[in-house]
Amino acid sequence: MYPVPTSLSPSRVESFLSCPMAFRFSSIEKIPEPPSVHTTRGSLVHRALEILFMSESALRTGDAAFAALDAAIHEYRSDLEFTDLGLTPAQADVFFGEARELMRGYLAMEDPQTIREIGLEIRLEAAVGDLTLRGIIDRLELDDAGDLIVTDYKTGRAPGARYEQSAFNGVHFYSFLCQAVFGRRPAKIRLMYLKTGEIIEATTSEQSVRAITTRTTAVWKAVEKACQTGDFRPKVGPFCGNCSFKTWCPAFGGDPTKAATEAPLTLATVAPA
Ligand code: SF4
Repeated sequence: MYPVPTSLSPSRVESFLSCPMAFRFSSIEKIPEPPSVHTTRGSLVHRALEILFMSESALRTGDAAFAALDAAIHEYRSDLEFTDLGLTPAQADVFFGEARELMRGYLAMEDPQTIREIGLEIRLEAAVGDLTLRGIIDRLELDDAGDLIVTDYKTGRAPGARYEQSAFNGVHFYSFLCQAVFGRRPAKIRLMYLKTGEIIEATTSEQSVRAITTRTTAVWKAVEKACQTGDFRPKVGPFCGNCSFKTWCPAFGGDPTKAATEAPLTLATVAPA
């Protein structure tokens, strides 16, 4: 009934598990979503850190970090991801001020001069049966023992202890990709929560990598089945408040068949030209 996607990324896996109906809108029907302040601010800070780490380690001072952020801001001022937010000059000042706070948070967590990065924003993909798994690693580095470390920057709040394990699923996914592409499993995965200054780390094992392929394959089978039956159930939860597809969600009285024709019109009113 619906075309089955041929690849999965960590965010798509989590999107399907969070709400199959939202997954149908975004990943199957490809209904565009307007950018949000939260996601754009996150992309901006990721870009600033990428620029910072493109310079030699000895040059990565605090001033250089803020210069990297200014360079990223310069890029984003004309980027649709930012301009489509439609912020007033005062709101834009708050937005960039919050990005500066995140950079300050980052600098309080580690000294970028000490990091031995070997790759930034690395796009990796590997096949599992007929399915291609793909993802982007924020930073891959070596520790003192020469082992690989995967670091993922987070610009939202750290999860509570209850959700900590699920926060790692995406990064374990990256450790699987490293093993498949480079033939080496990272020794450790690290989540850096720039807003709260928390670092959550986990070691990897053959078992943790195997668990990711098992989990992803199970999600993939569920996606395939939903595509064949057309049964993408809405899963009402905390994400509904920020869901771009609520207008067409049957759980809120909407008609999902209208999303494909109405969404571009809705977006046109959200996103100023
Ligand atoms: S409004 Fe809630 S239930 Fe409906 S598609 Fe969005 S996340 Fe899913």
